[in-house]
Amino acid sequence: MDQNNLTALNLSKPRLISVPTPRVLSLGPCELWGVSLAGCRTSLCIPELKIGFDAGFPFPFQLNTETFFITHGHLDHAAAIPFIISQKTLNNQKKARFYMPESLVEPLTEILQLWQKIEGHNYHFDFIPFPEKQSIGINQQFSVKSFKAHHRIPALGYTLFQTKKHLRKEFEGQTKEELVALKTKGIPIDTIDETPLMTFSGDTRIEFLWEAPWICQSKYLFIETTYIDDRKTIEQARTWGHIHLDEVITALPQIHSEKIILMHISSRYSDQEARSIIERRIPQDDRDRIVFFEGR
Ligand SMILES: [Zn+2]
Ligand SMILES: [Zn+2]
Repeated sequence: MDQNNLTALNLSKPRLISVPTPRVLSLGPCELWGVSLAGCRTSLCIPELKIGFDAGFPFPFQLNTETFFITHGHLDHAAAIPFIISQKTLNNQKKARFYMPESLVEPLTEILQLWQKIEGHNYHFDFIPFPEKQSIGINQQFSVKSFKAHHRIPALGYTLFQTKKHLRKEFEGQTKEELVALKTKGIPIDTIDETPLMTFSGDTRIEFLWEAPWICQSKYLFIETTYIDDRKTIEQARTWGHIHLDEVITALPQIHSEKIILMHISSRYSDQEARSIIERRIPQDDRDRIVFFEGR
C-alpha cells in the first residue's frame, strides 16, 4: 500500500486510544459497569443482576454475568463473546445465555464451533434469537424487553424494567391475617407497576426513540452519540447508522428521562474535549440531566 492510500485511510496519523477504563454509574436500585467507545468497544453489565449488554471487550467482572443481551454483530459490540464463553468453560461456570438478533445466531454458532476445535475444549453456551418487543424475566423484580434499532445491520436495543408491587388502596390498614384471607379467596390485593428503569440504544439512528412508547420514558436513557460536532454532519452519521449530538438536542423536549447518558462517542474526541463540547452545546435547562459516559 503506498503512502497516498495510507493517508486516505487516515492511518498515517495513528490515534492514541487509551486502555479501557470501566466506569460505574448508579441506576438507583443497581449499578451499571462498563465502557463504550465507538468502533472500539462497548461492554456494559449490571453485576448485581448478572446481566450484560453487549460484549465488545472482555472484563473479568463479566465472567459472573449469566445473561447477555447483544445488540448486533459489529466486533466492537461482540468480539468478547468467544473469550467469555471460553473462560466460563475453563472455570466450570454455569453456561451463559446470549440473547441476540436472529440473523446472528447461525454465523456466531459456526464461529464458536470452529474456535472450540482450535482450543480443544467443548464450549457450553446458549445463543437465543430474540424477536423485537419480546420480554424475558431476570428475577421477580426485573425483566428486559427488546426493540428494533436502526443500524446498518440487524440490531436491537434493550430496556430493563423494574416491577414493583403495591397494596391496593382499598386494602390499606387491613391486618396481615385479613390480607392472607383475601388472597386465599383469590382476590387480587396488589397492583403491579412496571417502570422502564434503563434503556440501552446499542448502535442506531435516532429513530429508535420512537420504536416503543416506554423508551423516552426510561428513567436512565443511554443514547449512542457517535458524533458531537461539525467534524461530521448529521447525514454522515445517518449513513453509518449512528446518531449526531445535533439530533439528540432536537429530540430533548420529547425525552422525559431523568438522566440521558451519551455514550459510544467517537475516539476522535478526547474525554476532555467530549465533555467540554457537550457542556457547551446542551441547552441550559437540560444540562443537569445529560451525562457524558466516561467509561471508554
Ligand atoms: Zn459500535
Ligand atoms: Zn455497529
